[in-house]
Formats: sequence, structure tokens, C-alpha cells
Amino acid sequence: MRRSEHISLFTEAIWEWFAVHKRALPWRDLAIEDDTQRAYHILVSEVMLQQTQVARVKVTYVRFLERFPHLEDLASASNRDVLIAWRGMGYNSRALRLRDAALSILKNFDGVFPRDMDALQSIDGIGHYTTAAIRNFAFNLATPCLDTNIRRILHRVFVGPENADGSWKKDDEYLLRLGEEVLHVALDQKVRISKQREHVMVSASNHDMRRIVALRRAQGDNSIGSSGIPNEKKMPRDTKNWHAAVMDFGSLVCTKRDPQWHICPLTRRNLMKTTPKNFPKTFIRNSKEEPGRVVGSTFIPNRIFRGRVIEELRDESRGLTLLELGPRIAIDWNPADHAEWLSMLVEKLKQDRLIEERKHRYVLAH
Ligand code: SF4
Repeated sequence: MRRSEHISLFTEAIWEWFAVHKRALPWRDLAIEDDTQRAYHILVSEVMLQQTQVARVKVTYVRFLERFPHLEDLASASNRDVLIAWRGMGYNSRALRLRDAALSILKNFDGVFPRDMDALQSIDGIGHYTTAAIRNFAFNLATPCLDTNIRRILHRVFVGPENADGSWKKDDEYLLRLGEEVLHVALDQKVRISKQREHVMVSASNHDMRRIVALRRAQGDNSIGSSGIPNEKKMPRDTKNWHAAVMDFGSLVCTKRDPQWHICPLTRRNLMKTTPKNFPKTFIRNSKEEPGRVVGSTFIPNRIFRGRVIEELRDESRGLTLLELGPRIAIDWNPADHAEWLSMLVEKLKQDRLIEERKHRYVLAH
């Protein structure tokens, strides 16, 4: 199969799948007219989604935006207020990075979210992926990017399976170029699909047609002519839905450890360079082990323990001493064996500006 045909069949299959299986998420299809406000909502959701499951983010996202409804509210919040609103999310330093990004937009861009790649990337705490996500989801500006889902799907479809240690045979530079090629095919294809749909609409009666045209224009769609036939050049490129489609597909079908071969539309169409036969049977643990401890028979990374420290301190305005904290975060706590280890954890949290020490008691940072 030629590469162009492979890409086109892939994008067609994903659009078809997404038309049926699109997830309703609170940060999708935002009916917010103000560009900065829309981009602010996307920024919050993207930072939350970086290392936390969608189900948990759905709850915290709504609560967080009730607490900090506008960029200015977040920019002026203390460390402690932001960490309290971040409850249950883990990886707490993300909360402070998010607040710092809001502050940076306020100071350097007069509180107006920029659209330009370089300007977005100059904002504290916003990297390449988040920049691209803001452009795609808030401004509908086609910007190729790789997150874990997009990387996994492109690689499995067009290159082959990952290695048994989870690493990829092709690097991000290669996959980003491939992603760009795929993105443009997908967007052109969507325009054609929409145009076919509009042609069906044209067969409606004149009265119905006038109503439909008026409604679409009122919704801001200027691509549709008075005859009901859309002008292809004016039709919006649907970059936000393309990226949403690939992400949903990666979360629901082509998952990291357990791809759903039996329901996958790509298996049926014979489009895959990855098959149950060449997929790694067992994944070996990455050699770059995280630091942590074995409790009982389970290895627990230190980042989990650090998250527990923050959780314990959220409701303790007087703070806790090391000896009070220990048994709350580790069921095998033994001061003789673990006091040094816990001191190291709290030191790291202090360096990350998440907690402070006051007279040998630890509290959330202000
Ligand atoms: S689920 Fe299997 S067939 Fe479908 S995209 Fe993933 S690896 Fe390919």
C-alpha cells in the first residue's frame, strides 16, 4: 500500500470512529467567545491532564475553575490556595507552574493570551506540547504535536510496535514530521466529509434551507453560501477535533498495555504495522527506575510519598512534625529506619516551594 493511501485510510477510519465514540469532556467544545478565557480553560485542563487520569481531572477541573474563574484570579493566588484547590491530583508542583504561567501572561502580555508559537513558548511553565494544545483546542490553529497517545498510535500504525522496555524505534522528530503529514490529510478529508454532508442538506426544501443557513451563520459559520453549498476555502480546518479524536482513540482503543484488537477498526481494515503477533508479550521494567521504597511486597516511588505529605498537610493549618507525618504516609513507619528518608522527601518539597518549615513543623507554603 502506498504511504499516501495508508495515511488517508487511517484518517478516514479515525474520523468515522470518532463520530460515534467522541467523549463529552468539560473542556471540549467550549462555548466561550473570549479568546483569553477559552485559552485559560484549555491551559488548566492540559496541565491537569499531564499526569492524572481523565476521570479525576473532570472533577478537579470544574472545582478549580469555580475557585479561580479567570486568569487574574489564579495569577494572584498564594501557593497554599493553589495547592488546596489542587487536592487529589498529585504531582503538586504542576499547580504552582500553572499559577506562574498565569502570572507570566498577566505581566508579559497584559493578560491577553498570545496565539503565536514563540510567544506561547516564552510563558513560564508552558512547553511545546501545551503550546500546541492551546493553539489547536482554543484557537483551532493547526499545530502538529505529540502527546503519549498520538506518539503511540502513529508509531504502532506506521512504524510498528514499541520495544519491550516501552521505548520507541523512531524518535520524536520523525514522528512529529509524520504527525504533520497525517494532520493535513485529516483536515482536508474532514472538509470533504463536511461538504458532502452539506450537499445532502441542499436537498432540503427552500424554506428549510433558509432556516438552516440563517442558523449556521448565527453560529458563526461563514463558509455556507445562500444556496446552502459551502465554500470549501472558507470552511474551518477542524484541528481541535482531529487531536481530540486521536486522543480518545488512544485512551479507549489503542491503550498502552492492552490494545483492544477485537473492537479496533484499524485491525479490520488491515492497516497496521503492529499486530498481536509482533506486539511485546510482556513489558520489562524501564531500567531508569524511580527512587522509592518497597513496602510489604510493593514498590512505591518517592513521588507517591511526597504526594501523601501534601495531602496530609492540606487540612493541617498548624502543620505537622516529621514524627507526626511519618506514620500518616507510610504504614511500615519506623523512625529509626525511615527518619532520614522522610527528611530527604520534605527537603525536596521545600525546594519545590510546596511546603515550608516553621519551628520544626511543616506546613503548606504560602
Ligand atoms: S488497537 Fe491494535 S490494531 Fe488498533 S491501532 Fe492499536 S495496535 Fe493497531
